[in-house]
Amino acid sequence: MKQFDGITNQHVRELDKRHVFHSWSAQAKLDPLAFASGAGCLLWDYEGREYLDFSSQLINTNVGHQHPRVVRAIQEQAAQLCTIAPAAANLARGEAAQRILARAPRGFEKVFFTNGGADANENAIRMARQVTGRDKVLSAYRSYHGNTGAAIVATGDPRRVPNEYARGHVHFFNPYLYRSEFHARDEDEECERALRHLRRVIECEGGGAIAAILLESVPGTAGVLVPPRDYLKGVRALADEFGALLIMDEVMVGFGRTGAWFAFEHFDVTPDLITFAKGVNSGYVPAGGVIVPERICAYFAERVFPGGLTYSGHPLAMAAIVATLDAMQEEDMVGNAQRIGRDVLGPGLRALGARHAAIGEVRGMGLFWALELVANADTRAPISATHAAAIKAECLARGLLAFFVENRVHVAPPCLVTAQQVDDALSRLDDAFTAVFGSAT
Ligand code: PLP
Repeated sequence: MKQFDGITNQHVRELDKRHVFHSWSAQAKLDPLAFASGAGCLLWDYEGREYLDFSSQLINTNVGHQHPRVVRAIQEQAAQLCTIAPAAANLARGEAAQRILARAPRGFEKVFFTNGGADANENAIRMARQVTGRDKVLSAYRSYHGNTGAAIVATGDPRRVPNEYARGHVHFFNPYLYRSEFHARDEDEECERALRHLRRVIECEGGGAIAAILLESVPGTAGVLVPPRDYLKGVRALADEFGALLIMDEVMVGFGRTGAWFAFEHFDVTPDLITFAKGVNSGYVPAGGVIVPERICAYFAERVFPGGLTYSGHPLAMAAIVATLDAMQEEDMVGNAQRIGRDVLGPGLRALGARHAAIGEVRGMGLFWALELVANADTRAPISATHAAAIKAECLARGLLAFFVENRVHVAPPCLVTAQQVDDALSRLDDAFTAVFGSAT
């Protein structure tokens, strides 16, 4: 670990609090942690305190912090050429697109690069509207698709701010058996009723008006809502029946997170457009994009696609993509995510759920999990904001980072995590629950 002589956490935090305007926050209530360096699943603050990062930051550092191969690739690209206009060709850009397409299903031909996930969804929606000549976009209430114009309107999260882009956006209820909107008793019933509901929404909105159905393959920020086995297949069939495009948002779950290159692979569906960001290069340099199939590329062969960004295909981000995907492949990180999730993290979290009454449900796959916390197991009333803050504080006090959203603890370590690190994190979580809710059973 690098030493930062003379720089204190307090100094860095004060500087930040004074000058940085933070997202999704009341500015006066912020007290950000300071981080100076990292390696793999570990982070250190400016005074040498170590943290185990089971948040992967915003669930993006799939190859962990400071992977030497990715860092070196960025350094080498920076020494050669830092930036080039989107219309030009560059080796890193072509190779990044090639690496991504090699992992996509057959029939996908090109990659449109963006700066992140929100603008990937914006551009996928625009493509769908252009190609279908239709206006409406259907997305789920329990979803997060980004924080720009159409992406924030497509987001179903109640924190979204309605705005002028709201035209043509319609929401529906996606499956969530633990809090079923459909009074379903099991997965099959939830699946069947959720699909019946979606069909009614499509019919009422006018089947011929729907340009796209936009869905996270596994909704993440909304609580790792792993869909029933056949749900996505049912949505695929509805999209086909009504001539709408199916856009799968793989921003959070793509590139290894669920133990597959893409999460939709678990459900035997192929979307029409795939959006990605985060894990594609572990967030080392901002990047996202849309993976576009042959028929949509053909549609734009002689027509101009009206969209583009100055930093689309930024060479530093592209070099990071090539190195990230090569490192994941050679170190079998997708296989590791699948095995550790199935054999260690999943069973460990379920065992924790059985021991602590506050854990109402444990959901997830691969290295993508959420614990939903309840004050009462029978009524399923969420824990109070005070208890949610206490769990977060007790985890931090034990040097454990997770992703805390409302009444949930999201657990998503980098894809190179070891079984020993998972055991360590589970024991810190166990202690944190005992500290807040008392001894486990
Ligand atoms: N889509 C999903 C599923 C996400 O989880 C996120 C961010 O968390 C986004 C889109 C937005 O990505 P970005 O913050 O890079 O714009």
